[in-house]
Amino acid sequence: MSELYDVIILGGGPAGLTAGLYAGRSRLKTLLIEKNQDGGQIALSADVENYPGQLLEGETGVSLAARMAAQCERFGVERKRDDIQKAELSGEVKRLIGSGGTYEARTVILATGASPRPIGCENEKDFIGRGVSYCATCDGAFFRGLDVYVAGGGDSAVEEALFLTRFARKVTIIHRRDQLRAAKSIQEKAFANPKIGFLWDSIVVKAEGSDVLDALTVRNVKTGGLTVIKAAPEDGMLGLFGFVGYLPNTGLFADQLPLENGYVSTDTDMRTALPGVFAAGDVRVKSLRQVVTAAADGAIAAVQAERYLMELD
Ligand code: NAP
Repeated sequence: MSELYDVIILGGGPAGLTAGLYAGRSRLKTLLIEKNQDGGQIALSADVENYPGQLLEGETGVSLAARMAAQCERFGVERKRDDIQKAELSGEVKRLIGSGGTYEARTVILATGASPRPIGCENEKDFIGRGVSYCATCDGAFFRGLDVYVAGGGDSAVEEALFLTRFARKVTIIHRRDQLRAAKSIQEKAFANPKIGFLWDSIVVKAEGSDVLDALTVRNVKTGGLTVIKAAPEDGMLGLFGFVGYLPNTGLFADQLPLENGYVSTDTDMRTALPGVFAAGDVRVKSLRQVVTAAADGAIAAVQAERYLMELD
């Protein structure tokens, strides 16, 4: 028989790691399961400047997540790397079935976050890792001296475009409107950066190349006109980074919980519709998806899980 945990936290981003910290401090028998590296989406971020108190020069998403993980483990949280394939959430004992085993707990905190939304252009998948990327921190250095295009106009697109100027010859933001969605402070930096250009009212419709990405077709959404952008012959390659929003990672439990636009509905105490099941961070319905709000959700979810367990005992 598998061990029975008080709480299993699914996901090792800021929401899950903070839930771990609070559950651990409450001396709950806690297991945190993550299938990839810690940090979730912040692990893809080169620069974290808006987490309160964060003033460390050179702080990256990875370094911040590593400190969150160490803090959480200090309070006795067990960790498992596993890819959960099935979740049984409705019973009194919740069961998570992964490639590496079955895990059981009296409460579960879902902190599975969200993943990058595909750009939606033709051949996009064929060029992932060969010119198309969704992570500037991971792949930016491969585009040293090349021309790079960024799809999107939100905080991620503009921040990551700024980061990519460290490597690229030129970075062009392709945005479907004529105004950015990004915060004004981020926009100002981009407008002031001579290496950043803009293609307004445009979307990428096709990616092409014989082996690596060497051409993009862009459509002007106002005129319908198509423009083919080709890599300079001496480069032989260009980069396309997609930052057009995120899709919630809810496939595992979509049939068991009410969702709104794909995100898990919770009350303000992070309770889902199922007793003993909580959700925290980007996976849930909320108005602001930031590290600080994910961390806050994680803290609330853990405290509420503890209260739920006290009522059961
Ligand atoms: P986002 O705010 O949802 O922005 C997505 C961008 O992609 C928008 O500009 C949108 O255009 C565009 N877009 C969406 N679907 C598209 C499509 N099919 N084709 C072309 N363009 C498309 O996503 P995000 O920038 O990743 O940010 C997600 C959340 O994280 C936000 O709440 C953001 O504030 C937060 N965030 C914060 C920071 C920070 O504070 N430092 C950094 C990164 C992210 P429209 O504008 O026309 O809708």
